[in-house]
Amino acid sequence: MKIIKRNGSEENLTKKKIFDSIVKANDCVAEDERLTRKQIQRITDAVAEACEQFEEPVHIDLIEDMIEKKLMEHSAYDVAKRYISYRYEKERVRNNKNLTDKLYAKNVVNQNANVDEFSFGGRIGEAASYVTKEYALNHLISPMAKANHINNEVYIHDLDAYAVGSHNCLSIPFDDLLAKGFNTRQTDIRPANSISTALQLTAVIFQVQSLQQFGGVAATHLDWTMVPYVRKSFAKHYRDGLKYIRNIENIDWINVEDKDLSIDDKFYDDEAVKKYAMDKTLHELNQSVEGMYHNLNTLQSRSGNQLPFTSINYGTCTLPEGRMVIRALLEGSIKGVGKFHKTSIFPCGIFQCGKGINRAPGDPNYDLFRLALQSTAQRLYPNYVNIDWSGNEGYDKNDPRTYSSTMGCRTWSAWDINGLGFMKDGRGNICPVTIIMPTLAMEADRDVEKFMALLDKKIGEAKDMLLERFDWICSQPAKSAKFMYENGTMYGYVPEEGIRSALKHGSLAIGQLGLAETLQLLIGKDHTTKEGMELAKRIEQLFSDRCNKFKKDLKLNFGVYYTPAENLCYTAMKKFQEKYGVIKNVSDKEFFTNSIHVPVWKKMSPFEKIDIESQLTGYSRAGCITYIELDTGAKHNIDALETFVNYAMDKDIPYFAINVPSDTCMDCGYQDEINDKCPQCGGEHIQRLRRVTGYLTGDYKTAFNKGKQDEVEHRVKHSDSMKDWK
Ligand SMILES: [Zn+2]
Repeated sequence: MKIIKRNGSEENLTKKKIFDSIVKANDCVAEDERLTRKQIQRITDAVAEACEQFEEPVHIDLIEDMIEKKLMEHSAYDVAKRYISYRYEKERVRNNKNLTDKLYAKNVVNQNANVDEFSFGGRIGEAASYVTKEYALNHLISPMAKANHINNEVYIHDLDAYAVGSHNCLSIPFDDLLAKGFNTRQTDIRPANSISTALQLTAVIFQVQSLQQFGGVAATHLDWTMVPYVRKSFAKHYRDGLKYIRNIENIDWINVEDKDLSIDDKFYDDEAVKKYAMDKTLHELNQSVEGMYHNLNTLQSRSGNQLPFTSINYGTCTLPEGRMVIRALLEGSIKGVGKFHKTSIFPCGIFQCGKGINRAPGDPNYDLFRLALQSTAQRLYPNYVNIDWSGNEGYDKNDPRTYSSTMGCRTWSAWDINGLGFMKDGRGNICPVTIIMPTLAMEADRDVEKFMALLDKKIGEAKDMLLERFDWICSQPAKSAKFMYENGTMYGYVPEEGIRSALKHGSLAIGQLGLAETLQLLIGKDHTTKEGMELAKRIEQLFSDRCNKFKKDLKLNFGVYYTPAENLCYTAMKKFQEKYGVIKNVSDKEFFTNSIHVPVWKKMSPFEKIDIESQLTGYSRAGCITYIELDTGAKHNIDALETFVNYAMDKDIPYFAINVPSDTCMDCGYQDEINDKCPQCGGEHIQRLRRVTGYLTGDYKTAFNKGKQDEVEHRVKHSDSMKDWK
């Protein structure tokens, strides 16, 4: 019979191993308390016989429990005692080793591309994370949840944040906070009264809110949000213009900035002064946008020397002030940060594409869409979110807070069953789990019908795991996240009802990993084939039907989630390989394919990739992303980029991104795709920027885990499959 060892691998259990382990304990007790060889053999036989009843491999813990029990039954109390303390000691040493590895940054695996695990903060964070994960697994979650997590069936994300009961991510209602001001622990902040203050406070609010949770923070319509503050700045500069150009001081509109007049208002009737005010306002705006980009790339506020994961959505505001903001954000993105104008990693820019707004020549913001494409060609950002996505149908055209917007990584707030409708502000993802489908395919003996039945069961258990965690999160006191509950950054909070009143508007995400490998196991082909796609749709329909039912029955926002699996794509594969070995087209690499994505090594054009993935993205309500890979030719091919984005939007893709190589020579600042050496200075110190999840990260060769590195190396350029490219 087989046992499962602590590292997940399997091994044959021999009688000799049982015998030897009892002998070790036996040798440590007083001579007159010792068992004879014959007695030890009898106990060994009893354990071995008890093991025969198991058809499946058994975890080593269970075998050790059994040995303990048999020792007691044979009245060998001292030996049993010795055996127990021997086990405890071994466990202590094991835990200690894991903990010291984290404290001294040994065996670093880059679980999260944006944490510096070698830094002091990173070491504390990783060590704490190890301890809190163990605690959650062993003392907090149910045996069902623990078994699913350990068996590589249903993965619990951010387990280190489980015990304290914090939640994942949030779209912050910046309109409210900037207009009303807000409280922090030490002070209160007055409402913003200029564009420079508003953008500075935006960075501050991002920072503070990100400490109330474990995931990302987003602004859902930053262009609209900033309109009043551009107006305030303009009014002030206009007043200054009157004073210094026209020598007019005694005017009765001291507080004109409170009147929220458009910069086009006929009130501003002096052309020369108006020109002055406009120049000053633009200068202020550009400076503060640059300041925001630098702030969000430098202020590492989380333990682990981690930047907050920030995202900004924009692109639909057609008011002159909103257009100014969009232009400044895009120009800032193109300009880059620092001495060498490197691509800024945060915030993740997301351009909101809408029919009649910015997608075609003649649309009021078409020029800005073109500028966005230029930025993408060079900086990978912005990504593109689809205002007209069928999954957001019914949103309020008069309220930009309900427009399609997303967290950079991909989590999405769908229609709220608890009354907030299509509101995106003040809501977010509460927590996700991910079903590792290839494991289920193996457990179902690679039989389609058995797999579907098992998947159904596991979707149900995933729901229970989320409910378990949701209840735990809801049981936390509001004072654990004062900034959030005192300032109403999460909507719906009623103090008398507890924090559940706010959390119930968030989403509970049932994710998935490795559709492509699952289909290979079940039918020997993936969803780039007709049969593969048919089965893929059947699988996704099941996910979707179940989530819709849970949402209705339990009055909570369950949704299908196409998981990023940044770390999981690798760790799940390692566990899978230990258990099932190398299977061709399934586990013959270092990573599982992201959610429903087409495998990264499949050669096809961008259009073909969009055609395939767009058939499945409609099942998701808790977030997904589709990306294509292009070569550096993208820089000179903005028309082609426009075609790709519009094609994706027309195919009803909710969230779309374009990957282009972005390498920077750290010696001279040269930027392009660079092979081994910089063509300009011959330097070999090259930063290679690549996308992970929906965000970017630093050099993938040092910041990514082995699985993601391997995935990057496997990626083909979809532009290679287009004959008229370049
Ligand atoms: Zn160089």
